[in-house]
Parts: sequence; C-alpha cells; structure tokens
Amino acid sequence: MKYHIITFGCQMNRSDSQRISTYLEENGYEEAPKEEADLVVINACSIRRSATNRIHGKINRINSREIKPTTILTGCVLKKDKIKFRHLFDHVLRIEDLTKWPLFEAKGKNYFKVTPKLEGISAFVPIMTGCNNFCTYCVVPYTRGKEVSRPAEDIIKEAEQAVTSGHKELWLLGQNVNSYKGEMSFADLLRKINQIKGDFWIRFVSSHPKDFSDDLIKAMTECRKVVKSLNLPVQSGDNEILQKMNRPYTREDYKGLVMKIKKAMPEIELSTDVIVGFPGEKERHFHNTVELFREIQFDMAYISCYSSRPQTAAYAMKETVSDKEKKRRERVLTEILKEITLEKNKKYIGKDVRVLALKINKNGKIQGKTAKNKTVIFEGPKKITGTFVKIKINQVSPWTLKGKILSK
Ligand code: SF4
Repeated sequence: MKYHIITFGCQMNRSDSQRISTYLEENGYEEAPKEEADLVVINACSIRRSATNRIHGKINRINSREIKPTTILTGCVLKKDKIKFRHLFDHVLRIEDLTKWPLFEAKGKNYFKVTPKLEGISAFVPIMTGCNNFCTYCVVPYTRGKEVSRPAEDIIKEAEQAVTSGHKELWLLGQNVNSYKGEMSFADLLRKINQIKGDFWIRFVSSHPKDFSDDLIKAMTECRKVVKSLNLPVQSGDNEILQKMNRPYTREDYKGLVMKIKKAMPEIELSTDVIVGFPGEKERHFHNTVELFREIQFDMAYISCYSSRPQTAAYAMKETVSDKEKKRRERVLTEILKEITLEKNKKYIGKDVRVLALKINKNGKIQGKTAKNKTVIFEGPKKITGTFVKIKINQVSPWTLKGKILSK
C-alpha cells in the first residue's frame, strides 16, 4: 500500500505529518507521489478561510481521479469544517487518535510516543499542544483543545535523536510554547536541551508575551545554542483592540517586556505577528499599531488581514473593516517594515556571518539562515546543504542578505 500526505499550516502540522508517516510505515505503507498513492492524507488547517478553500481544491482533484484512493482529513480542523468536508473524504479523523485510526490493527500508544520520520536539516520537536487562552479571533483552542505538555524526558530524548541523526536546528513547538508545564519549567527545558552535545541551534515558537518569565530571559542569555532571535506576537498596538482580542497585556506591558529582553540580550532580533482589520479597528487604533512598529523596530513581522472563523468569540462581532481597507493597512505596515529591515540589513554589509545552508533555491543558489533567522543567498556546491558555513555579506535587500562563502 502506498501513501501520500499533503500538509497545510504551521510547523506543528508538519511535525504531525512526520508522525503520521512513521506510523503508516510501521504498518506496512510506503511513501509515494500522490498520483500513485492508495491512501492520501490531508493534514489540514482551518485557521484562515483561505486554508479551507485550498482543502476543497485538493480533494476535488483527488476525487476526480479514475481510480480514487482512500482519503483521510485530519489536523487542525474546526468541527464546522469537518462536517462540511465529511462527504468528500472517506474518513475525518483526529490527529490525537492517530494510533487508533481504522487503518491500523495495532492500537494503543499516545500519538506523541510515535517517533517522527525526521527529514531535512531542521527538526520539529513539539513540546506541548493546545491552548487555554481563547484569543477571540483564534480557532486553536477549538481545534487542538486544552494545553497538554509532553513529558520532558520524551522531549529531551527526541531532541537527542534529532541531533544524533545530523539535524542542525531544533524547533521546539507549541501553540503557546512558553506556557510549557511539564516536570520542569520551559526555561529549565531549554537549559537541558542546550546541554545535548553537538553543534546545533535551538529555536522556539510561538511565545505568548504574558508567559515570558524573567527566568526564560535568563535561560536564553545563558544557553549558547538558543538563538538570539525571538518571535513575540503582539497582534495589535492598541489597548482597546488588544482587550477585544482577549490578549491580557497592554502596549505598555509589551514595550516593557521588549525593553527587558533587549537589556538582557542587546543583540536579539525580534519578529512579531500582527492582525489588521479586527472588528472595530478604527484608523486611530491602527495608528497605534503603526506607532508601535516604528518604536520597536521589528526585524520581521507576519502581518495578516483579519478573517472571521466560526466558533470563535470574534465571529459574533460585526466586521467593520472592508477587505480593501485591510489590504491597505497590511501594505502600510509592510512598507514601514521594509524601510526598517533594509536599514538594519545594511549593517550586515562587509560582515562575516555564520549560516546554516538549507536548500537550493529555484535559481540554483544556496539558501540558508543565520542564527537570527535572516535569509542568506549565496553560490556554492549542493553538498554543503545541511552544514554551517561562513559567508561574507556584500549585498542586502529588505528580506534577504547575499554574499560569498568564506569557509566551512
Ligand atoms: S495564544 Fe495563540 S494559539 Fe492560543 S488562542 Fe491565542 S493566538 Fe490562538
């Protein structure tokens, strides 16, 4: 039997797909291109409306094949979307029930006990799943349920396996990664993983500002392998909108936290997530986000236009911002970000940076990342992917650095 997995969404879904692969292979399946597969799994995401449209497109194409494979829908999917898709798939199954899926005889172990089929250079290691925060725009508490932290021992073992098998970058994942509640705090978990022997980087996403403790800042400063690059979603720069989003901090709290982090790690590079066009967001509210952008000088930002999702509290709120206006606000922030990042990137010209070579891009060049998550493009032999190289930067744009290899 041959299988193919189509994955949408974040790193957590990619990591879940690696567990699905292992479990299918342990049960006699073999990976194949989707045209040859007897089983197609769509590991989906309901977070944005556009994501559910993509599921429709994929499954309709699969179902129109002459010999139709068995199809499974799983992942971060809202109940309402599951009902909507039920007639298009043979099975709609919870990822948490992976080991009990009707395809398998062997039933039992917790899906987190399934060793992921680690591929590539970066390894994704989930440390917790679910979320208790109920931000009013977000489906995660409904699709993933309440927070569950994995035992620290399992996480450390999986991290060790990833390093031993040659992975150079570990991504510790959780919808609310820094609210990890295992036998030790998240800060101590970082300290433990930092002790694993080997040359690798440790990254973690997504952090909630309210759970960013002083001890976590201290652990980041102490742990050499923890990169000095941090994604800290602010979502809005306006206190009224933050309250409507059920984000339990103010812009002042956020700025205070950023100052504390920058004081401890002046070299830190910060990115953020922002939603524009939340119900009730007037020009004056948006202006506060613009101001915050200018004040904090983020190194990167993931800006999205609000899209209402069923089941969430914001679904019942009246949408007051047109799609055109959301796009305009997105463009305004993107332009500010471009100005800031270009200025910041100019400081890299003439500098030597350590880069993890990740892949060959569509132009045949090597694409890598610095520890601070800057994309670097350079020429070099394919065989250096998966290794750290030293690059002299000679050209920059708002989103990338370009340079020449100095040494391995
Ligand atoms: S903290 Fe993150 S995952 Fe949890 S509800 Fe808010 S946005 Fe969603």
